[in-house]
Amino acid sequence: MRVKLLSYTPNPEILCAAAALTSSRRRGASESIEELDLEKARRIIRRVLSYGHYSVIEHASFTFSLEGVSRALTHQLVRHRLASYTQQSQRYVAYDTLEHYVVPETIKQSEEAKKLFEETLAKISETYQKLLELNIPKEDARFILPNAAKTNIVVTMNARELRHFFNLRCCQRTQWELRQAATEMLRQVKRVAPALFENAGPYCVEFGYCPEGKMKPSTCNIAEIKEKFKNL
Ligand SMILES: Cc1cc2nc3c(=O)[nH]c(=O)nc-3n(C[C@H](O)[C@H](O)[C@H](O)COP(=O)(O)OP(=O)(O)OC[C@H]3O[C@@H](n4cnc5c(N)ncnc54)[C@H](O)[C@@H]3O)c2cc1C
Repeated sequence: MRVKLLSYTPNPEILCAAAALTSSRRRGASESIEELDLEKARRIIRRVLSYGHYSVIEHASFTFSLEGVSRALTHQLVRHRLASYTQQSQRYVAYDTLEHYVVPETIKQSEEAKKLFEETLAKISETYQKLLELNIPKEDARFILPNAAKTNIVVTMNARELRHFFNLRCCQRTQWELRQAATEMLRQVKRVAPALFENAGPYCVEFGYCPEGKMKPSTCNIAEIKEKFKNL
């Protein structure tokens, strides 16, 4: 899996701070933005977020490329509606080798499961190729492809939606592959806009408790998780 922050709104913290000042200043953001340095901008962002005024961070957007991830991951990712997506098309790009599939660790660790998985994928690959040779269009041959099929997707979210996405998808309850991708996305945005993503992470990190109730995994240790995300 490759996760790369491709691009983001220039000076995202200064922009969001200038937007925040618009609500309480007589003059407009075009003037306030000139007086803001990073330190002041971060102070303003921390203050407005502490009031729960999250709409100001919607002005900053972040675009990522997720490459070599499974269709199982992207199917879950695109459930997040306040985002823009562009995904590799199975109508145009053919699958031809076993390298085009994601193999979960649990399957890698069991000899028997691994053998079964690989044999099934080999059979699927072979059938897929045969369908193409029979002039079946890729858009129909792909009906045989599994959730494990690798894909690339570009996703853009604003900082508010990203924080919500991290609440849900950095959580231990989320499927491992999407959790890994979300955690790496958070690591990268923290580097470029730390104030926008301060205390961001799974719900327990941001809000101090787990809303999952009986669904909370028994292995979850909130103190350890908090420490991990503090040092991400
Ligand atoms: C651990 C886990 C298990 C899951 N299991 C399942 C499952 O078994 N089956 C399943 O179908 N899904 C499942 N999901 C997906 C989940 O139900 C959501 O579809 C997904 O997480 C997107 O979250 P969202 O709707 O909050 O966010 P987004 O689409 O990212 O939206 C962000 C926020 O905007 C607001 N919003 C967006 N659209 C609307 C709207 N139309 N109306 C009102 N408010 C809106 C809401 O406040 C929402 O929280 C699971 C998710 C997780 C994290």
